[in-house]
Amino acid sequence: MKEYICIICPRGCHLTVDEENNYAVTGNGCLRGEAYGREEAMHPTRVVTSSVRVRSRKHPRCPVKTDIAIAKSDIWKAMHLLDDVELVPPVHRGDIVIASLFGGEANFIATRDIDK
Ligand code: SF4
Repeated sequence: MKEYICIICPRGCHLTVDEENNYAVTGNGCLRGEAYGREEAMHPTRVVTSSVRVRSRKHPRCPVKTDIAIAKSDIWKAMHLLDDVELVPPVHRGDIVIASLFGGEANFIATRDIDK
């Protein structure tokens, strides 16, 4: 059994997921919580936020995030890829900072504009 707090809405239902019973979810107040609990137990994912260096005296860091959620188990590996990144202004919100993480669909993108 695994236990989670559903983060889909403010009610915060306490979910229990039974991996040995086809990932049956109990404690959920609605079907969205059932899907969340099952996904969290079988394949947890997160949108990752961080920052990277910028060749700029005024704005030495630029916030970035993944444009879709990635596997929770890949988060630290993904964060390490950012260590080698240095952006050169101008940077535009939505610019791809690292494309196709691990050959997949997720990209790291800039989340602010930096002119210089
Ligand atoms: S299970 Fe449904 S009601 Fe409960 S926190 Fe999740 S979304 Fe909200």
